[in-house]
Amino acid sequence: MYHHVKKLMYTVRVDEPDPAFGNMLLEQFGGANGELAAAMQYSIQGLNCEDPDRKDLLMDIGTEELSHLEVVGSLARLHLKPTKFDREKAEADPLIAIAGGGGVNLFNSQGNPWTADYLKITGELDVDLRSNIAAEARAKIVYERLINFCDDAGTKDALQFLMTREITHMKAFAAALESMKKPAFSIGKIAPTPGLVNQFFNDSTGSVFLMSSGERNPPLTCIIRATVNHDIMTAFKIMIQAAIA
Ligand code: MN
Ligand code: MN
Repeated sequence: MYHHVKKLMYTVRVDEPDPAFGNMLLEQFGGANGELAAAMQYSIQGLNCEDPDRKDLLMDIGTEELSHLEVVGSLARLHLKPTKFDREKAEADPLIAIAGGGGVNLFNSQGNPWTADYLKITGELDVDLRSNIAAEARAKIVYERLINFCDDAGTKDALQFLMTREITHMKAFAAALESMKKPAFSIGKIAPTPGLVNQFFNDSTGSVFLMSSGERNPPLTCIIRATVNHDIMTAFKIMIQAAIA
């Protein structure tokens, strides 16, 4: 159940409206890494989740993302306001000024409509949590870029709040994944093919590096050092032999 609390999660103040910046803000309103995408991704994952504690976490963070959508929408509206009465500003973005009356709509900064294709929902809880950790990292970096291009103190303040909350969510999703106590490379139920799973190819030269069966986590330098000078056909033969062994 949702209740509408008639205040914003964070007070929004804009001293100098900047329609071009308002347009960039729409990336976090109706864009691929924006607040609606986050709200829908976590809420729908939550609806599908059988584990009561983690379901609660998903639904709660999904709800907070809706509150973020409200903050971003309010901020973008204040910045876009001049497109309502300033011909020059309106001309710069007819989609917002003429079609949308100077308000926000579910588009990204390029005017592309929001789509459920943005969402990552697999129905496998640990896989979904990994997607969410990555989604929060993307949201964080988009906020950081917006902050870097912003001169308005009030706007920066609200964006700093929103950016910080994404790191909080990232920590919560990471803790939820950690608490499932699944080994790092254990995905689903069918085990990967032994031998084959530990082959790392240097696909630039066709050389191959084979891990010994006892090694679990190849150091990156070992993979990069994959200089056993097999030609590409030999590498594939080794791979196929390992697959059928
Ligand atoms: Mn958010
Ligand atoms: Mn978030």
